[in-house]
Amino acid sequence: MEETGTKHFIFRPERIADAVYPRRCALCDAPLLPRERMVCRKCRKNIPFLEQPLCLSCGRPIRDSGEEYCESCRGTRHFYIRGFAPFSYDGAVRDSILRMKYSHRAEYAAFYAQSSAVFGRGYLDEWCPEAIVPIPVHRDRLIRRGYNQAALFARELSKRTGIPCVEALARVHSTKPMKELDPEERHRNLIRAFRADPSIRMPSRILIADDIYTTGATVDAAAAVLQRAGVREVYFVCAAVAPGNRA
Ligand SMILES: [Zn+2]
Ligand SMILES: [Zn+2]
Repeated sequence: MEETGTKHFIFRPERIADAVYPRRCALCDAPLLPRERMVCRKCRKNIPFLEQPLCLSCGRPIRDSGEEYCESCRGTRHFYIRGFAPFSYDGAVRDSILRMKYSHRAEYAAFYAQSSAVFGRGYLDEWCPEAIVPIPVHRDRLIRRGYNQAALFARELSKRTGIPCVEALARVHSTKPMKELDPEERHRNLIRAFRADPSIRMPSRILIADDIYTTGATVDAAAAVLQRAGVREVYFVCAAVAPGNRA
């Protein structure tokens, strides 16, 4: 066949996909240039990782560096041992996570996983979790949204840490509105919402993965259900943790 000007053309399906659905910066949502990965150049210079002092239980920033625990953890007995998030659920991160959840920006999960792997390396080395278990969503919600952002986050984190992602929990009930419930009722209500998969032999140390940590009620309920299923140590990672004054 006669060679023409097309000889330098290399077929790259991802380039075509980029042209049709441009990849977006996980922080500001600007379309990414071909060489940019996950975040744009401008945002990469200023990724808002959390800094010490952080709560020794939930990883939330604490204002008074004389304290070891945040105000919320000082009054609560958690079912998990300890957890972390790389970011505060605030500003650009808050807007980004809302887009990831509700505006089809599932691709952001890779950025949150990468950030968690880097930020949490020390914790993960110390805790040695044997599996990452995402917080499940109810099937109806999964059908409506098309994906569970916590599961995407968990799978991306698994790729980066080598810790297997095991979808060991299912959501069996949609949770009732919980605003009017006290923390104890909320915990019981949430526990009923989760079921541990009886066909899975639970490892002894699990890292729960979710998108946002606010009061910790969801992570605690999941941790309680996993413990009943035989898990000994439960830790968690969230993409972001709500700052103390709003929790
Ligand atoms: Zn950006
Ligand atoms: Zn705390």
